Amino acid sequence: MQSGLVIRSSSIHAAGCYTTRAFKKGDRVCEYDGPRFTKDQADERYADRSITYLFSCGDTGMVIDGFGSAMFINHCCEPNCETEEVEGRIFVCAVRDIAAGEELTYEYHLYDSDDAEGDCYCGAAKCRGTMFSKDELKRRARKATREAAKAKKTVKTKA
Ligand SMILES: [Zn+2]
Repeated sequence: MQSGLVIRSSSIHAAGCYTTRAFKKGDRVCEYDGPRFTKDQADERYADRSITYLFSCGDTGMVIDGFGSAMFINHCCEPNCETEEVEGRIFVCAVRDIAAGEELTYEYHLYDSDDAEGDCYCGAAKCRGTMFSKDELKRRARKATREAAKAKKTVKTKA
């Protein structure tokens, strides 16, 4: 366990990662560390699992299978942390001063997700209602339009 952090039950989702001491804006709070896989390897490994803690690492096509405190950090639409990639390593950094006892959060920006739903219940005033990134929402909208068009065609050929 990283120093200054503790895992306990969260009001956002299941377990969360809380601070036991204050952090300053810009501090690296912890590292998102764990074994690395390619996206395909991870899909194969976790085909039957609904909950995973995979972190996509930039454009490398690699994912990190979260292990340690960072995997418990929940998504929030008004987060107090952000993730920073430095030479293939992912660090969770404070975007503002964080007091002892606060729950740590960052935006997941889920993309290329196979999950049907990514609804957000973070409770922030500016909650976007989803954990998907803007690009993912666009991708899903396009897919829905395509499927609607396909459905229409099918109806036509049947008629
Ligand atoms: Zn939210």
